[in-house]
Amino acid sequence: MAKQYETVIGLEVHIELATKTKIFCGCSTEFGGAPNTHTCPVCTGMPGSLPVLNRQVVEYALAIGLATNCKITQVCKFDRKNYFYPDNPQNYQISQLYLPIARDGFVEIDTPSGKKKIRIHEMHMEEDAGKLVHDEWDDTSLVDYNRSGVPLVEIVSEPDMRSADEVIAYLEKLRMIVQYLGASDCKLQEGSMRADVNLSVREAGTDSLGTRTEMKNLNSFKAITHAIEGERARQIELLEAGKDVVQETRRWDDNKEHSYAMRSKEDAQDYRYFPEPDLVPIVISDEWIAQVKARQPELRTEKLERYKKEFDIPQYDAEIITESKRMADIFEAAAAICKKPKKVSNWLMVETMRLMKEYGTEADRLSFSPENLAKLIDLVDDGSISGSVAKKVFEQVFLHDADPEKYVEEHGLKVENDEAALEETVRKVLSDNPKAVEDYRGGKEKALGALMGQTMRAMKGKANPATVNRMLRELLKSE
Ligand code: ADP
Ligand code: MG
Ligand code: ZN
Repeated sequence: MAKQYETVIGLEVHIELATKTKIFCGCSTEFGGAPNTHTCPVCTGMPGSLPVLNRQVVEYALAIGLATNCKITQVCKFDRKNYFYPDNPQNYQISQLYLPIARDGFVEIDTPSGKKKIRIHEMHMEEDAGKLVHDEWDDTSLVDYNRSGVPLVEIVSEPDMRSADEVIAYLEKLRMIVQYLGASDCKLQEGSMRADVNLSVREAGTDSLGTRTEMKNLNSFKAITHAIEGERARQIELLEAGKDVVQETRRWDDNKEHSYAMRSKEDAQDYRYFPEPDLVPIVISDEWIAQVKARQPELRTEKLERYKKEFDIPQYDAEIITESKRMADIFEAAAAICKKPKKVSNWLMVETMRLMKEYGTEADRLSFSPENLAKLIDLVDDGSISGSVAKKVFEQVFLHDADPEKYVEEHGLKVENDEAALEETVRKVLSDNPKAVEDYRGGKEKALGALMGQTMRAMKGKANPATVNRMLRELLKSE
């Protein structure tokens, strides 16, 4: 019988923290910008410059550590990790090795067989490197230090995951926690959340760990899933052929659906770590921890329960809305403005979800403002626009954050409340459709629908359906 294999996966996740300035200097952390414009002597590694720790970095790291059930290292310090690479101007990275800020935590994920704890080995703070841009055409490499010194936390899990699905569930859980804390926007595409996947296989039923490889450069859930499936197959093939898996770092190329060896795996001693001499140890008092705990915003589970109780939103809808902090924020703000939470939830659940699918976008990237959604709901409610027009207008809100009042005004979409004009149209429809009129008067209630449709079409959707209905009935009775 063929051997059964189990996949064993541990993740190292880097998250860029949402501070306005870098970890050891006052430069902006904003994404993009002309190359080397968010830089200074500190983050470009000029001799004689000295780092000053950004307090907010510690606050965010503490908040994440606490929310992931970690023990906080109350006296922690930075260590110097030495390596040469052009994106790293100091030739060392300030990181934490011996006393990381948080240890021994866990997050819980949902799996088909119930809840599962994924243990967190440790989390540490460090600085990001710059970015190399390789121009193959010119055969040159350029370096941009805008990202150099952007604060990161690295969260290292225990090898507790067994499938791509569990990995995605873990990453989604981490992302949700961190986004709700406001500690990062966690965008895989922009690199503010990055995952390195460590993977080994072993014969099912055995306990010892197999030799692992580490895959870098995974910037979407799709790439992560492909990489895991590809690497699992590659390792099993080696073992089946009686060969060994080599411990190394591999790069996954999602276009070629193939991974290749990048370098052999380095050990901590290769980096000649030593305590960072330019920074004093950080002392985290009980009071500081208590303050961060007290400031912790409402996390997903509490929010979900509150939506159900306070707004009478069904479980399923509340789950969808709170799945992304962005959507939950839009929901709450719009509901607070128009005071119609059920309607807001409806627009999110139906039209927003439909357009997200149509335009292939995610909830995190929703860009319309709650004010404009609230305005749209009010326009429908006070009878200014019809339901079908509202859907069209909402598409403009969804795509361009259009102001619904202005849009309706500019495109003449307001419902005609001029009853005289409407009556004229209704009379014309009646005289143009003698058959339907006869049918209706003969007792066929259905014929009214056809007449309604004709009238709405003649009014280009700008009539209030309730008014049209009333007027049709009146005129059909009187003549
Ligand atoms: P290093 O410091 O060399 O990167 P670590 O021991 O810190 O190695 O582990 C890095 C990551 O690899 C962790 O997430 C850990 O869970 C995972 N890992 C370690 N051994 C294995 C293994 N045999 N199979 C899968 N994952 C592993
Ligand atoms: Mg590591
Ligand atoms: Zn700087």
